[in-house]
Amino acid sequence: MTTSEQLFKQAKQVIPGGVNSPVRAFRAVGGSPVFIKSAKGPYVFDEDGNQYIELINSWGPMILGHAFEPVEKAVRDAIQHSFSFGAPTRKEVEMAELIIDMVPSVEKVRMVNSGTEATMAAIRVARGFTGRDKIIKFEGCYHGHGDSFLIAAGSGAVTMGTPDSPGVTKATALDTLTAPYNNLQAVEMLIDNNANQIAAIILEPVVGNMGCVLPEPGFLEGIRNLCDQHGIILIFDEVMTGFRLAKGGAQERFGITPDLTTMGKIIGGGMPVGAYGGRADIMNVVSPAGPVYQAGTLSGNPIAMSAGLAMLRYLNEHPEVYTRLEEIGGKLAEGFRAGLVKAGLNYTINQIGSMFTLFMTDRSVSNFADAKSCDLPLFGRYFHAMLKRGVYLAPSQFESLFVSVALTDDLIEQVIQANEESLREAIQ
Ligand code: PMP
Repeated sequence: MTTSEQLFKQAKQVIPGGVNSPVRAFRAVGGSPVFIKSAKGPYVFDEDGNQYIELINSWGPMILGHAFEPVEKAVRDAIQHSFSFGAPTRKEVEMAELIIDMVPSVEKVRMVNSGTEATMAAIRVARGFTGRDKIIKFEGCYHGHGDSFLIAAGSGAVTMGTPDSPGVTKATALDTLTAPYNNLQAVEMLIDNNANQIAAIILEPVVGNMGCVLPEPGFLEGIRNLCDQHGIILIFDEVMTGFRLAKGGAQERFGITPDLTTMGKIIGGGMPVGAYGGRADIMNVVSPAGPVYQAGTLSGNPIAMSAGLAMLRYLNEHPEVYTRLEEIGGKLAEGFRAGLVKAGLNYTINQIGSMFTLFMTDRSVSNFADAKSCDLPLFGRYFHAMLKRGVYLAPSQFESLFVSVALTDDLIEQVIQANEESLREAIQ
């Protein structure tokens, strides 16, 4: 038995399913999860001493590679001044100013501790601001585990086969309307059938949580127009895409301005941080400026702010990071496509910048139904074949890979080679 297997056995006695977040348990791909001991640059190391090339990067945050020196130094400096005050600090002001500088639509911003908190707060604000109750979300989009979002949710929720989780009340579910991604007509119909009742439309401007799915040309513009016509708050959930697809996220890349934006992952440099922000008139309803309550003992935590600030400052001052991420994503996609051709497969690759998914299906994938047509057992075999070859992928078909700039050209070649071999092994 490996050390990871031993630890998993122990973990299952004391933690539900042995993990603190479901996808980590490897249920979707079978087998026992590897327990990570440390990570540096482009590599993670497990408890058994195995080394893997990182293509998850903590599900996004480690965009500059693991234990990136400026972030590490910022944390080391910060811990000398105690870990938490629950009082305002200079760093929170600097963080808010920097986010507003980097993200085009954000005029005011509130820090929280996770992406889930950010999305929960954002819809409460949208409801408080509009005086309406219902929201529209898209099938296969994941916005954290808040009750309102566990309806046709992607990521771990679909992997575990519980898109509608027990514990979410019928009343809550009734206020969440869902449409297929990239389908404007469906959204129009929902709006018509619920006139003056929709507070917000929330979406991932590029989806990561059913695998990587891009908005079709005109989709984001169409949603923006519908929101304008009907007084609906448009929320871009940029927890994954923020500071990744461009310095200012997907909204900068596609030139669409949401009313509110939710952020997470990269914003904390690997520490537990989220944020929501947007139009000043909307954000001014948040307490204590306004009546919509939202709070947090550890919100704006000084250690987390230090890590996040170091990360965002680096990204803000080094535009070449984004050029390199485009290059890495492009090279991987090209190499993976060549691998598919060699293996005689016609599967789909969706890629934009450093987000990337190889879908085990011949269908082009532009919504959740397309994504669900994938050969999941084949993906499981492929995943383990890659792991065996030292490549650490997300353990589910319904996830995007997140590349870091630490990936060198040599490592890209190794990953492409591993992909070719793994495809051949998986289809046997
Ligand atoms: N929104 C999106 C788009 C996400 O991808 C995630 C997490 N993967 C969340 C929200 C929730 O963030 P967290 O896991 O930090 O609560």
